[in-house]
Amino acid sequence: MSEFRNERTLVVIKPDGIQRSLVGEIIKRFERVGLKIVGAKFFVPSPDFIDKHYNLNPEWKKNVGEKALEAYRKQGKEAPFNTPEEAGERVIEGLKAYMSSGPVMALALEGAHAVALVRKLVGGTEPLSSDVGTIRGDFVLDSYQMADTDGRAVRNLIHASGSIEEAIDELALWFKDEEIVDYTLVQERILYDVNLDGLVE
Ligand code: ADP
Repeated sequence: MSEFRNERTLVVIKPDGIQRSLVGEIIKRFERVGLKIVGAKFFVPSPDFIDKHYNLNPEWKKNVGEKALEAYRKQGKEAPFNTPEEAGERVIEGLKAYMSSGPVMALALEGAHAVALVRKLVGGTEPLSSDVGTIRGDFVLDSYQMADTDGRAVRNLIHASGSIEEAIDELALWFKDEEIVDYTLVQERILYDVNLDGLVE
């Protein structure tokens, strides 16, 4: 069996995903590719918890600001902020209000290349430019411009860890050790077994 199959990642279905009754649609996409749910919880996070989540990576505020400036540049539009840091400050305030506005569903998913696979299925941050076929591209229509005009976070249904290191830190924040379940799915045999012997009687 492949040594890669134990990679884990965090997915959070955000309040807009819950309110739009997309939990089933979203989970279906992860299940059908072969990922295994090893943890799940449903609750309303506090603004402080969200602040902690997005500050796990000290570079995040600057990075999120740079991405926003780049998106405005690409679309030939003027950004409503001057520096990445200024943009990052605004985004975190919007995120605290957005993410604590209602219940969210947090999922711990496991499987080969779980982090990269989930990011691929989720799509780019801004739904306006997320690829068709991705969760953000298929189920929602928000943009940086709409969010900035209204002074709020981009509503894009879902959070997914951006790297293996982030996934480790984020899973430790969202789940206690005993809330992650180690078990085997029968389909792992066909996904990971080296020889596929013993299928025919
Ligand atoms: P991702 O969720 O795709 O990993 P980021 O970590 O860069 O994206 O940003 C976290 C979340 O902050 C995004 O999912 C989105 O909800 C919100 N967001 C990001 N950039 C902006 C922005 N420029 N304006 C408003 N909200 C934003």
